[in-house]
Amino acid sequence: MNDNGKNMNVREKEGVVFLTFPSFEQYHFVNHAFSTRMGGVSAGEFTSMNLNFGRGDSDENVVRNFQRFCSAAGFDYETLVASAQDHHTVVRRVGRGNCGTGIWKPKDLQSVDGLITNEPNVTLTTFYADCVPLFYLDPVKRAIGLAHAGWRGTVAKMGAEMVGAMAREFDSSPKDLLAAVGPSIGPCCFEVDTPVYEEFAALTEIKPQEFIVEKGGGKFMIDLWEANRRIIMEAGIPAENIEVAQLCTKCNAQWLWSHRASGGRRGGLAAMMCLKGEEA
Ligand SMILES: [Zn+2]
Repeated sequence: MNDNGKNMNVREKEGVVFLTFPSFEQYHFVNHAFSTRMGGVSAGEFTSMNLNFGRGDSDENVVRNFQRFCSAAGFDYETLVASAQDHHTVVRRVGRGNCGTGIWKPKDLQSVDGLITNEPNVTLTTFYADCVPLFYLDPVKRAIGLAHAGWRGTVAKMGAEMVGAMAREFDSSPKDLLAAVGPSIGPCCFEVDTPVYEEFAALTEIKPQEFIVEKGGGKFMIDLWEANRRIIMEAGIPAENIEVAQLCTKCNAQWLWSHRASGGRRGGLAAMMCLKGEEA
């Protein structure tokens, strides 16, 4: 394994390897983690920590993986609430009544790429394999958010939708928020054709020429991390409150799931975040 977590901490417990952000770890009332491929029970192309149902792995294995991951990273499996991601920017406020959704209860909405809560013991859960995970924490109002931003979600400014949703639902002030951009396909590997380039180039307010490199032959390299960082800053979160993992899933496909590196034959990563109960 490559144990260089770049700007994230690499943790291991009970054989399960996971990643955390130093800035979020300072707050005792919140727990968060991002999974790796290591420490699960799945075999073959899902070896071994696959946290995606419905990709060909057995549900039994995926459930055991969730239980192993939760035990190691300090989450209660019973409290997981999963997103139903389809590259839109729908943000859903969830609470205790939603626990189990998408894990041990059926999905109840088709389109939710962002989850927010201010209730303790509700574990927000979102899924990845190259797309960009966005983490949010309001230490003042004690509220959290997790969002999935692929390139479509990035262009549609999911990063800012989350700030708006937390302001609306929890009266969060953007200047108080912490944000983090998790492991995902990096500027080294995210190559696109002209139609995708044109969508990013239209975001003139965040100076796309500073995070796009033209390779020639109609190919462009786009820095999704920087695009999301700028979108989050534009929404009012101070630069010093934003952390970027700088960890490319495709370059690190031996220990992180990458859709592009695997040609789609892969398991899935998960981000989880939970406010702890009062006793914590
Ligand atoms: Zn890369």
